[in-house]
Amino acid sequence: MSDLSTIKGVTKPMLARLAKLGLQRADDLLLHLPLRHVDETRLTPIRDLRVGEQAQVEGEIIHAETLSRPRRALICQLQDDVGGLLHLRFLHFYPSQVAMLKTGARIRAFGEARPGFFGLEMVHPQCHVARDEMPLSAALTPIYPTTAGLSQAMLRKLVRWALQQGDLGEILPTAIYAGLQLPDFAVSLNFLHGPPPDTPIESLQQRSGPAWRRLAFDELLAQQLSMRRHHARRRSQGAPRLEPQRYLTNALLDALPFVMTGAQQRVWAQISLDLSTPHPMQRLLQGDVGSGKTIVSALAALQAIENGWQAALMAPTEILAEQHYRKLHDWLTPLGVNVYWLSGTQTKVMRTASLAAVADGTAQIAIGTHALFQEQVQFAKLGLAIIDEQHRFGVHQRLALRQKGRLPHQLMMSATPIPRTLAMGYYADLDVSVIDELPPGRTPVVTKLVSDSRRGEVLTRVRDACQQGRQAYWVCPLIEESEALQLKTALETHELLTAALPGLNIGLVHGRMKPNEKQAVMQAFNANEVHLLVATTVIEVGVDVPNASLMVIEHAERMGLSQLHQLRGRVGRGSTESACFLLFQAPLSDTARARLKIIFENTDGFAIARADLNLRGPGEFLGIRQSGVPLLKIADLERDADLLEAARKIADQLLREQPQAAELHLQRWLGQTGDYVKV
Ligand code: ADP
Ligand code: MG
Repeated sequence: MSDLSTIKGVTKPMLARLAKLGLQRADDLLLHLPLRHVDETRLTPIRDLRVGEQAQVEGEIIHAETLSRPRRALICQLQDDVGGLLHLRFLHFYPSQVAMLKTGARIRAFGEARPGFFGLEMVHPQCHVARDEMPLSAALTPIYPTTAGLSQAMLRKLVRWALQQGDLGEILPTAIYAGLQLPDFAVSLNFLHGPPPDTPIESLQQRSGPAWRRLAFDELLAQQLSMRRHHARRRSQGAPRLEPQRYLTNALLDALPFVMTGAQQRVWAQISLDLSTPHPMQRLLQGDVGSGKTIVSALAALQAIENGWQAALMAPTEILAEQHYRKLHDWLTPLGVNVYWLSGTQTKVMRTASLAAVADGTAQIAIGTHALFQEQVQFAKLGLAIIDEQHRFGVHQRLALRQKGRLPHQLMMSATPIPRTLAMGYYADLDVSVIDELPPGRTPVVTKLVSDSRRGEVLTRVRDACQQGRQAYWVCPLIEESEALQLKTALETHELLTAALPGLNIGLVHGRMKPNEKQAVMQAFNANEVHLLVATTVIEVGVDVPNASLMVIEHAERMGLSQLHQLRGRVGRGSTESACFLLFQAPLSDTARARLKIIFENTDGFAIARADLNLRGPGEFLGIRQSGVPLLKIADLERDADLLEAARKIADQLLREQPQAAELHLQRWLGQTGDYVKV
């Protein structure tokens, strides 16, 4: 009944395209809601058209010509029955359009009127031939999210089918909706898929009317239910109880040259407690760049090791993993702990040795890139998995880890703070700890915006600083289109700087170097043998060289906010005053200007993250748009904050009192296998 393939005219390739949009059942089509609506219910006389407004007009083509200069264009004059005249302009067009829009044809056109060379015109209006007595739409026309090869007309047809064949009945007690003053499911869907002609388009667009709110609530409820289910599943699973023995952890704390901040001690206490429970920990440790997450993770690893279990620490880049390895090696080896290194690029002999040590338990802690969690890697007794810069890993990598034998405790770390509402929505399954304090003695980084035309001055600053024994980074622009081009720029920059700054030792590190080459350069930089390090964005996450106090970022206008914040966080780690020069290429676009202003005015990662979220939206921000995990499509966590509160309460209530209804609701929204939970 609800099988899409039984619908007339639906072909196999079309089914594949529908599946790409997540449309496999009648339920999915019902919940495939319009992006926007257009009004094709009336005809506007041409003389009443207003600039900037969308409207539908009908008339006869009285002249049509194809121009080749100044550029190729198809221009038609449309005259309506009361003599109004409108130009239709097409810059891209097919022969079929030229054929349709010929002199004498009666055409219905929908588009936005704007001032043109010959008076009002529409550019690329939607046109079709108007046959005699062709009725106008009875409802506003929905425009659906779609994909190549799937027309709006086809989607409309399918949705109409679903509205007739699908189940529009209520699943939950209607009292719930009455209490929230939300309309029926059927009423809401019929309304949104074809609003009556007098519905203000504005209000539909804002998605704040009752019909939208009803569906937003249902979606949020499904999300909350899914997360609770997930959480319950986790609580029902066993994990090793890793109680604090304190002989290793205290030994490390005693050996440190610093005392942990209050915030570090607080989060460490939370983690330590989690590890001692018999359920797998899933904790996200958030802390701004430089807040000192590494030491906390080292302590967590030691608590596992104290109990005879292994720990693993995974980092997203080779450079970062290598740095962690060195640091943990220095911290832990004196305590008698065996620290091992594992990466996809180490020599076969080394790798085989590491794998063996991991498998027989000799390796008490293994540190590496995601190579650490590939199939061949078998841990003897993995008790704790630590994932640094968690937001850089795909969801699938995290899942792979989770499926490795018995569930280890998991500690995820991130310097990209997630604003509260977003965390509630997307990470409700995780426990979150926040380090909200930087270690003392840091000097704030002074940020300067400098037009590219003044790079000479920046060069002088860098030279003077390096001559005084300080160190600097020079970050090459991100060139998304081409890694090869980025590499070329890095090489050229290195060459230019070497020529411009004689007497300084200038290093180069980029993504295409072999790991041991990278490692050698980073070590030389660490040891202050290299004064100035030219780098691509490979140094973005986690690199820690306290003596480096200057950073120059080229083409800062091309970079994302969080990325800039992360990069800037590489300096200001020691006690010398630090500065970050953001070179930009004028003129700036409005968005670029807005971005740079935010990074210039803020040093707090949370403030920057919020601004970034606003600019890019949650999918991009969390890096999960491409992950195939469904995001909220209807609800907006900020706009619908009240509904989110309600959904949280009602989810708890339903699971207690009507678990079956909860299950059916989940099926309607997510299908059999769908899941909102990310980690
Ligand atoms: P992030 O949170 O960005 O990963 P790191 O763990 O790399 O930060 O710490 C940044 C630097 O601060 C490191 O050099 C680390 O040793 C140092 N550090 C960490 N905690 C403290 C502290 N409480 N006091 C002084 N320095 C600290
Ligand atoms: Mg770090």
